[in-house]
Amino acid sequence: MSQSMIYSNKGAFFIENVPVIQIAEDYGTPAYVYSKKIIENTYTIFKESFHKLDPLICFAVKANSNIAILNLLARHGAGFDIVSGGELKRIIAAKGDPKKVVFSGIGKSIEEIGLAISHNILAFNVESEGELYRIQSVAKSLNKKAAISIRVNPNVDAKTHPYISTGLKDNKFGVDENQSIKLYQLAKDMDSIDIKGIDCHIGSQITEIEPFIDSTKKLVSLIDHLKTLGINIEHFDIGGGLGINYKDESPPSFTDYAVAIDQIIGNRKLKVILEPGRSLIGKAGALLTNLEYIKEGSSKNFAIVDAAMNDLMRPSLYDAYHGIINLNTHQSEQKEYDIVGPVCETGDFFGKKRLLSIKDGDLLAVLDVGAYGMSMSSNYNSRPRAIELLIDNNKVHVIRERETFDHLIMGESILP
Ligand SMILES: *Cc1c(COP(=O)(O)O)cnc(C)c1O
Repeated sequence: MSQSMIYSNKGAFFIENVPVIQIAEDYGTPAYVYSKKIIENTYTIFKESFHKLDPLICFAVKANSNIAILNLLARHGAGFDIVSGGELKRIIAAKGDPKKVVFSGIGKSIEEIGLAISHNILAFNVESEGELYRIQSVAKSLNKKAAISIRVNPNVDAKTHPYISTGLKDNKFGVDENQSIKLYQLAKDMDSIDIKGIDCHIGSQITEIEPFIDSTKKLVSLIDHLKTLGINIEHFDIGGGLGINYKDESPPSFTDYAVAIDQIIGNRKLKVILEPGRSLIGKAGALLTNLEYIKEGSSKNFAIVDAAMNDLMRPSLYDAYHGIINLNTHQSEQKEYDIVGPVCETGDFFGKKRLLSIKDGDLLAVLDVGAYGMSMSSNYNSRPRAIELLIDNNKVHVIRERETFDHLIMGESILP
């Protein structure tokens, strides 16, 4: 199993310098727990791997949008990749710098575009001709200029789960290379548009280097071609997508990734922007959950826990693997279990056929849930969302309170 932020020392498990059992006793379960040190170390190592290019690292907010975490990254100089007006408001609440924000997404509304322009974001990553016209018209009405990149879909196979592959020609994202040239020529003649950059993002949880090399090469030759047409590209936004090791994957290291990109860019004067999400935060979170019941059947054993698919969607949605460990130590017999939640869906599981030595009341941890964990959670089955905690050395900070029933029905009303 992959390296985890939870380590054992003399028979007890810790996150930084706090015993994990203590966290669950003090704050209850289910609980998302993050390590400040791992977030900061990962960001620093990522940044240092790219020291030659000195890129702007725009953390993909959708991977983890808690404002305490956004604030931590902002303090280290990070910018942000957003996909909604709500995410921009989070950046502002987190004291991040809107001037370091790039705005992706295929369905930007007039309100969202206006909000982003009024906060002077770094660039819109434009995904269609209709969007380009809309940005021009909103910018004009505000008497401002909007900075843009065109999101190019380089038609490379990211070799990842089809639901998180975004760079193939029949995906809904971006435009193809020929269309992008047309859009740049249109944009050039728009008086409220500033052409700044070019952008791509080919998918998520990519564990091979080739798709990154292919797409970077394609975009660099497109940049060169645009130059011959009198269109000057200042920044190259390479997107995110670098995978992490959940089970037995071996994704490229930050250094391998950086060196590959650096070699392709060569001595072109391009400001590089990166949009990592998962690779910065995935390893920095665990979901603590209490084992409520063991249910032994004739053909299968179930371990029923108090967290569910509403807390962590990835196994249900992508059949994703997450390591699961028992944080109690005892001598019960090892058996194979499906670890499942209480939600009324067969797809509500965290792991299948896991060999564990467990008994009722044990505390389990689902590992590597820092990215696309809490940010994808819901209230399905009227389940209040989990508490979020950030560990800093020997301190536990509540960075989001556990929801109560009042949160669940907020805004609802019955007929008079
Ligand atoms: C989701 C997303 C990212 C982040 O992807 P990761 O796989 O988490 O690195 C970056 N850019 C865009 C446009 C995205 O949609």
